Formats: sequence, C-alpha cells, structure tokens
Amino acid sequence: MSAHDTPQQIQHDAAEGLEQILHRKEPLKPKERMAIPMQKMPTQDPQIRRDNMQEVAMGYFPEQAKLESMRCLQCKTAPCVKGCPVGIDIPGFLAAAAEGDFQRSIGIIKQSSLLPQVCGRVCPQETQCQEHCTVGKSLKDVNQAVSIGRVERYVADWEREHGVQAPSVKAPTGKRVAVVGSGPASITVAADVRREGHEVTMFEAFHKPGGVLLYGIPEFRLPKAIVQKEVESLQAMGVEIKTNFVIGRTRKLLDLMKKDGYDAIFIGTGAGLPKFMNIEGENLVGVFSANEYLTRSNLMRAYDRERADTPIFKSKKVAVLGGGNVAMDSARTAVRLGADEVHLVYRRTEVEMPARVEEVAHAKEEGVIFHILENAKRIQGNEYGLVTGMECVRYELGEPDASGRRRPVEIPNSEFMIEVDTVIVAIGNESNPLIRQTTPGLDVNKWGNITVNDDGKTSLPGVFAGGDIVLGAATVILAMGEGRRAAASINQMLSTN
Ligand SMILES: Cc1cc2nc3c(=O)[nH]c(=O)nc-3n(C[C@H](O)[C@H](O)[C@H](O)COP(=O)(O)OP(=O)(O)OC[C@H]3O[C@@H](n4cnc5c(N)ncnc54)[C@H](O)[C@@H]3O)c2cc1C
Ligand code: SF4
Repeated sequence: MSAHDTPQQIQHDAAEGLEQILHRKEPLKPKERMAIPMQKMPTQDPQIRRDNMQEVAMGYFPEQAKLESMRCLQCKTAPCVKGCPVGIDIPGFLAAAAEGDFQRSIGIIKQSSLLPQVCGRVCPQETQCQEHCTVGKSLKDVNQAVSIGRVERYVADWEREHGVQAPSVKAPTGKRVAVVGSGPASITVAADVRREGHEVTMFEAFHKPGGVLLYGIPEFRLPKAIVQKEVESLQAMGVEIKTNFVIGRTRKLLDLMKKDGYDAIFIGTGAGLPKFMNIEGENLVGVFSANEYLTRSNLMRAYDRERADTPIFKSKKVAVLGGGNVAMDSARTAVRLGADEVHLVYRRTEVEMPARVEEVAHAKEEGVIFHILENAKRIQGNEYGLVTGMECVRYELGEPDASGRRRPVEIPNSEFMIEVDTVIVAIGNESNPLIRQTTPGLDVNKWGNITVNDDGKTSLPGVFAGGDIVLGAATVILAMGEGRRAAASINQMLSTN
C-alpha cells in the first residue's frame, strides 16, 4: 500500500472485513473484536490538500463506522465514559452504530452533547475518552484505542445528511436571557435555555457568530458550513442573534438587566487576548499573533487575494512559535496561503507538544519543518521595518518542573539565525479584559478569568459565566460542558423566580 492510502482502498478493505464478520453465525468474542484492524481516517492526499482549504479528514465510510464500533468490548465499567467531560454513553452509542442503527446512535450522543459534529472533529479524544479505552490499554497503544471520536463524527454527519429537526421549544415563559459571545459555551447555553421557553438574545462582537469555531479553527479542520448549521438551528428555535455588538462598549453588561430588562446573563466571551514573547522585534511588520493571522484567513477570507477587502501579504518563509493546536493551525494555514517554507519552532520536544497527535502528523505530512528544543530570541528587521530573520537558541531538557514536565534549559552560545519574512506567535491566549474592566463587582482570579461557583454563578446576582473566560484557553467540549451546567442553573433560577 502507498504511504497515503486512497479513500477507495480504505473503503474496499473495510467492506471486505465487514463482509467476513457478517457471514458469521456466532457473536464476536472479545479477542476477535480486538483483532479487527483499527479503521484509518480517509484523508485528502497531502500534496493536493496543501493547495486547498477543504477538510483534510474526509470522514469514515459506513462500513468503517460499523467495523470500528465492533472493536468496542462493551466494558461493564466503561472507563472511556469517565474520560469524557460530558459523560456521553460511549458503549451505548457504539453498540447502536455497530448494528447500523445510526439514528439511535446519534440520539444517545445528543442526550449529553449538543455539538457532536464539532466535537467528533476537534476533541482531543486521545487524552480524554480514548486514553482510558480498554482496547488501547490491552494493545499498549492509545492510538489503537477504539476511535470513539471518528464514529461520533460519522453518526453526527449521517444525521445532518438525513435532516436534523430543530429541538422543540416549550411555551413562552416571559423570561429573557442575554448570552454574551457565540462560541460553543454560549451556543450550548442559548439552546438549553431557549428549550425551556425563555426568550434568548445572543450578543456577538464580531460580524458573524460561532466564536473560535468560526474565526480560529480553520476550514480544513472544521468546515464553516457545520458551524453555520448550528447557528441556524439556534435561530430556528427562535434565538435572536445581534452581531457587531460589543458588551462593555456598545452596552455595559449590567445595563442588559437594569435598562433592557433581561432576567439573567451568561458570559461566554472566551480567551481571545493573545500572549506575546516580549522579545526584540515583535512590533515589526510581518509579525502576527496567531489570532490575527487565523481570523484574517478564516473570517475575513484574506486568502482570497483578488476579492478580500483585507488580503494578507504573500509570505515566502514563515516561522510559527508554539506547539499547540493554534500553532499547528497557523502553520498549516501558512502552507495553504502559499508560503515556500513554514518552520514550527517549539522549545520542548514533540512528546510535550499540547497539540493533538493527528494535527502534528498532518502538519508534517504537509511539509511543515519542525524545530524542536529551539526558541526565538529576537526578530530582525530591515530599514523599512519588515521582518527579515529570527535569531533562535537551542534548548535541552533539564529536571522536571512543577508541572511534572522536564524543563527546557537554554544551551549557552547555541544561537543561530533563520531567514524568514513572517513570524506568527502562537504561545497562548488570555481572557479579554473589557468586561471585567467595565463591570464593577465582577470577581476574577489572578489571570483575569471570571470566577464562578459550582453552578456557574458569578459574584453578581443573575450573572453566570462559562467556557474559556472561566477556564482559561481550554477545549470545545469543556466549554460546552460549562455551558450545560450554567444553563441548568439559569433554568433553575428562572423557574423559581
Ligand atoms: C486556533 C484554535 C484552535 C483550537 N483548536 C481546538 C481543538 O482542536 N480542539 C478543541 O477542543 N479546542 C480547540 N481550541 C480551543 C476552543 O476553540 C476553545 O476552548 C473554545 O472555542 C472556547 O469556547 P467559548 O465559548 O468559551 O469561547 P469562544 O469560542 O472563544 O467564543 C467567544 C466569543 O465571544 C465573543 N466576545 C468576546 N468578547 C465579547 C464582548 N465583549 N461582547 C460580545 N462578544 C464578545 C468573541 O468574539 C467570540 O466569538 C482551539 C482554539 C483556537 C484559537
Ligand atoms: S473503554 Fe473502549 S472498549 Fe471499553 S466500552 Fe469504552 S470504548 Fe468500548
């Protein structure tokens, strides 16, 4: 087989494998389930996808979804469920998928998760449900665990293709809830609160709703049409969405209750303030925060140089600083925007990289050059203020630090230069200070994240918060879980008021 298995080959192998199993009279024994090969995700050929924005992972074929689900041993203790932040009945939905009952399968997922099409694509399953999977543990390789996320994605896509009904909404209660932000935390709150018959208005600072799902995670990982569908589903339920509306500027947070008559507020404003390295040269032209770079590409379509209002200049040699998902997304976007060389510079080793394993593998396949145990020291510019190069320094791993990870230690006199015209800083995000600065009495912690109790309540009566604005930059599923929790307490509060 070639290094890149074609989708046709993958489907052919799966159909053959499934055929053999379906001919059996006896049910599969655990050993036989474990002997079913893990189903590979069909992907676009790396050489082709470097030049397009379309989704890289193409999704399972039906035969694969069934076969992969048959690998599940239906463990009584279901350790995978403990690894899922929203406690999806994983063996339940896999058993239904193994029988080919995709409708029942997605129904089981939706009891716990509102955004399975999104989570099936972007959740870090290898450090959540799949990390605990008995199959992966028995085969001594987490990458051989049951591919729970891929099956989730399959049944969620199946439902979309077969027509999703907007959730039913109870009779109007006369209560009104303002939801600030439109990322996964806010989408979840809006849906769960609206379902109870309360009126919901969502306020979004950008001109399009969706949060990081729209402006951060690129099209080639999460098609925007999927996010758009989720937003349309909210609108079909009767949620009103006001865009270009910055709470703290257009309207003060508490005025929503005092002047506009909302009974409760949810703050889901995320962690959109980029961190910088604070090194020489970071103000030169050609240095971007990952946020700006990705937003310009995803939301403003800067890659469309002929038609975009704010096209991005064509970089030849790009350096991306960082090792998380945001760094991988930036590097892979730079590849697609036509850079000749993209260097990813990370000061620890690949083992410590916080990015999903799949994203690292995809970045490598697409030609991103990895510089591990290296870091930027200074960015160099010319007389016009344009970036011309970056001075880096090499590191080695020292003793473990407080996080348990071995600390990177600079190797003296190991400096060297890389010639680049663009530097993208992707070393993390903090919470945006606007709401806390303009809302007296709203408690935050030392990092500026809003503090909440176990029910998602803030220090202000009637005001709830969740997602990255509470957790710091985290994940989609955690944001969604926080949204569920806050929505439950908003509904509880409104039912007793
Ligand atoms: C590039 C990138 C890649 C990522 N990849 C992954 C991944 O693969 N898997 C994963 O699980 N997670 C990933 N994440 C993290 C994940 O996207 C976030 O944890 C999640 O989106 C947080 O959701 P949220 O609802 O809290 O906020 P967000 O999605 O950040 O949404 C907040 C929204 O609030 C709006 N807003 C902010 N301030 C105001 C205001 N004052 N008034 C009105 N609106 C306001 C913002 O414009 C934004 O639309 C990634 C993040 C980034 C940036
Ligand atoms: S741990 Fe793995 S094998 Fe066991 S029920 Fe969960 S998915 Fe199935």
